[in-house]
Amino acid sequence: MRVAVVGAGVVGVCSAFELTLQGHEVEVFERHSSAAEGASFASPGLLIPGWASPGLAMHGRRMAAGFALRNLSWVYQARTARRGAEQTLADTQVRSLTVSSLKRLQEIENKYELDYEASHGALVLLHHPKEVVRAGLYAADLAQAGVDCGVLDEAQTRAATPALHPELKVHGSLFYPQARSGHVRLFSQQMRAHAQRLGARFHFKSEVTGLGAGSKPLVRLQHGSNPAAFDAVLICAGAQTQKLLAPLGQHLALQTFSSYSLTVPQRKQDSEQDTDGPSQAIWDASKHISYTPLGHRLRVSGGLELGDFGPSIHEALRDRLYKHIGECFPRATPTGQEQLWKGQYCASFNGAPIIGPSGQAGIWLNVGHGMQSWALACGSALVMADMLAKPTP
Ligand SMILES: Cc1cc2nc3c(=O)[nH]c(=O)nc-3n(C[C@H](O)[C@H](O)[C@H](O)COP(=O)(O)OP(=O)(O)OC[C@H]3O[C@@H](n4cnc5c(N)ncnc54)[C@H](O)[C@@H]3O)c2cc1C
Repeated sequence: MRVAVVGAGVVGVCSAFELTLQGHEVEVFERHSSAAEGASFASPGLLIPGWASPGLAMHGRRMAAGFALRNLSWVYQARTARRGAEQTLADTQVRSLTVSSLKRLQEIENKYELDYEASHGALVLLHHPKEVVRAGLYAADLAQAGVDCGVLDEAQTRAATPALHPELKVHGSLFYPQARSGHVRLFSQQMRAHAQRLGARFHFKSEVTGLGAGSKPLVRLQHGSNPAAFDAVLICAGAQTQKLLAPLGQHLALQTFSSYSLTVPQRKQDSEQDTDGPSQAIWDASKHISYTPLGHRLRVSGGLELGDFGPSIHEALRDRLYKHIGECFPRATPTGQEQLWKGQYCASFNGAPIIGPSGQAGIWLNVGHGMQSWALACGSALVMADMLAKPTP
């Protein structure tokens, strides 16, 4: 089949890779000048198997900043959805997709010798005794799903993270030995190169301005230009998905979010133990802040704006990142060389991505992965490629 992929973020390049591997003739259209310049640019890149509900619960999300009334109905529907049995099913599906996705990532990494500044293992910090109890139940639940994870007490947590502030109140942590973190942009660019080597064609600075549904779906690149016909068009356009589908009369139940990361250079160390920051990924569940080591840098990420507020920086959310580095890893404090980044992603009510036919003939979707886009990218790409190989329902 001739397949057009719209978007060369981590989801688009992984999809292009799998589709090309399965023998399709793939062309990728990306409006930016290289892969991973959208939400895949500087996200913290936590890859935690079995992680269906970041922070173990929805309650830790910060929605105050940038909050707009028009998004209230989405919040209401998301909270209602999270109480139902359907949510349990969605969580189970997302969990198992994170597990298969990470497995696929490791296969690709080993075969193609990818180097994306990966760190192994992740700790979810727990600040209250109640969280430790909940984490124990959660770990037991995950063990049944085949995910290796266990609860560490305070001493074990501190031994695993010597740079943690001695005065930070920590009661323990949830340890995921199979988790990883890394540089999502580097990973995406290497995946792009391998997809290209396998035969995929990438068109950068090529914005798709229109789509046409049908047995030979169309991709239009410039207003007024002749559209190109394919056998299938796969949308991997991240937060721009709604804009692309709207002219076809299609609206997906996806909500746009923005969040921040701060990448801070670190002193070169004599040994791996003697670090100013963590040597493995840390997720602070109650504060909704992550810390990921990237070579000689530390990436701290958090803050949430509900809705699309463009590139403007919300100062309180930015300042919160600085405050938390100081409270958690005081020796890793920024010295003026740090880089602030704001990225946008979109998520469904129940946190499950939308993978499969769009409802418009010939147009397929691999979107709505939320805060787990990279964690789900390799698995979603495989699912998508397998679905495309079967007859359209
Ligand atoms: C602060 C933050 C923290 C995050 N933390 C994590 C994490 O810890 N773990 C994790 O797994 N994920 C995390 N995520 C999510 C994740 O990293 C990103 O959301 C993910 O990389 C998005 O991948 P994507 O390919 O779907 O979208 P994008 O990377 O945004 O790619 C979509 C691409 O489509 C292109 N495009 C859109 N419209 C068009 C068009 N009309 N024509 C041509 N091209 C088009 C865009 O230019 C873009 O390059 C985080 C995100 C943010 C913002």
